[in-house]
Amino acid sequence: MSDPMQEGQLKLASIQAAEQKLMLQTYQRIPLLFMGGSGVTLRDEQGDEYLDLLSGIGVMALGYAHPAVDAAIASQSKRLLHTSNLFYHEHTAELALRLTEMSGLDRVFFCNSGTEAWEAALKLARAHAGLLRAEGKRVGTRFLAVEQSFHGRTMGAVATTHKEKYRVPFEPVMGGVEFVRFNDVADLRAKFSEAHAEAVCGICIEAVQGEGGVRPVSKEFITAARELCDSTGALLLADEIQSGMGRTGEWFAYQHYGILPDITTVAKPMASGLPIGAMLCTDEAARAFTPGMHGTTFGGGPLVCAVAIAVIDTMKQTNLLTHIRDVGGYFKERLEWLRKQHDCITAVRGMGLMLGIELDSEELAKRAAAAMLDQHIIVNRTSETVLRFLPPFIVERTHVDRAIAALDGILTTLTLNSAALAGRAPAGENSHG
Ligand SMILES: *Cc1c(COP(=O)(O)O)cnc(C)c1O
Repeated sequence: MSDPMQEGQLKLASIQAAEQKLMLQTYQRIPLLFMGGSGVTLRDEQGDEYLDLLSGIGVMALGYAHPAVDAAIASQSKRLLHTSNLFYHEHTAELALRLTEMSGLDRVFFCNSGTEAWEAALKLARAHAGLLRAEGKRVGTRFLAVEQSFHGRTMGAVATTHKEKYRVPFEPVMGGVEFVRFNDVADLRAKFSEAHAEAVCGICIEAVQGEGGVRPVSKEFITAARELCDSTGALLLADEIQSGMGRTGEWFAYQHYGILPDITTVAKPMASGLPIGAMLCTDEAARAFTPGMHGTTFGGGPLVCAVAIAVIDTMKQTNLLTHIRDVGGYFKERLEWLRKQHDCITAVRGMGLMLGIELDSEELAKRAAAAMLDQHIIVNRTSETVLRFLPPFIVERTHVDRAIAALDGILTTLTLNSAALAGRAPAGENSHG
C-alpha cells in the first residue's frame, strides 16, 4: 500500500462504489478524482496534472487557488458568514453597485445559482406583465424562448429549455412557453404576434448559447427581439449565466450587440468557484416586485458577495477583459487554422473565451474529448457534436498552443486511422450545464 498510484486508484474505486450505492445517479462522472489545483492546472489523487480548459463548466474565472479569492474567503470567514436577508451586511450594496455599472441595468437581486436567477427573471416578467395589464397595456403571460436554449433545471427554467430530455419527463412544467427557431427573425415575429396566440410577456435569449453548442445569436435576431418587446412593453430576458461576467470579452455578451435587455442573469464565474447568482433589471421591471413577493434564505450572503467583489476588482486591476479578448482572439484564430487542416471540423464558433468547434460526427466528438483527456487536457462535449472550451480567464497563449497541437494530432489519428478509432472506449457526454 505504499505505492501512491495504487493507493489513489483504490481511493477512487471506493468512492465510485459508495456513490453508486448512495447517490442519485444524475451524473455520468468521468473517473478522475481531483484533490487540488493552481492556475489553469488541476491535480488528481496521484499527483498527475491536467490543463483545464473547461474551468468547472465556466466557473473558475480566476483559476484554482487564486490568492485574491483565498484572501477574501479567509478574511470574511473569520467575521460573518450569514445574516439572512432580514438584516443588512456590508457587501450587498457594494457588489450591486459594481454589477449595475458593468451591465447598464439599475437593480440587482442576489441568489445562489444560475437556475434560481433565471427563475427570478421569469417571475419578474410575469409580475411585470400583470402590472402593465392593470395599467391597460396589451401584455400577456406567454414567453418566447429559443430552440437549443438552456436556462437551468428548476420547473420554470426547464419550461424555457428546449431539449426534451431536460423538460418532458417533468411535465406539466410551467405553461405558456413557445420555442422560436434560432436566429429566425420571421419565426420570432410570427410567434410574437397576438394573431398567433395570447400576447407575450417576455422573450428569453442567450446572447451566446452555451449548452446549445456555443452559438452566438445574430444581431438581426436580438435587435428584432428588442424592438418587438419595445412595441408592447414585454421584457427582453438575456441569460448571461454562462456568457456573462467577462467570459466573451465584454462584461455581458449583449454588449457586443449594442442592445440592453430589461433583465439579465449571471452566475457561473461570478465568485470564481463559490455558488452565487444574480438577476439584474431595469427600474421599470423592478417595480413589479414588492417586499415579500420573492426572496431567498442564503442569497447574497456576506461570504459569496465578498468573494464576488474580490473577483471583479481583480479582473479590473489586471485588465482581464483585454486579456480575455487577446487570448480568446488568438484561440479562435488557431481553431480556424485547425479547421483548415481538418475537414472533420465543420464550424468554429464563439467569442472571447467561450469557444467551440463543431465536428462532423457525434462519435468523433466523443473520441476527441476522451483523447484530449488521455493527454491530460480537459475540454467538454456539448450538443452532441461540439467540443467546447470555457477556460479560466487567466489562460495564456502557451496553453492554447498545447491544446491546438494536441487536437491537431488527435484529429489526424482519429480520422486517418480507423483501427485506433475502433480500439478506444468512448467517454460519456459530460454536459450537464
Ligand atoms: C449553467 C446555466 C444555467 C443554469 O445554472 P445552474 O447554476 O446550473 O443552475 C442557466 N443558463 C445558462 C445559459 C447556463 O449556462
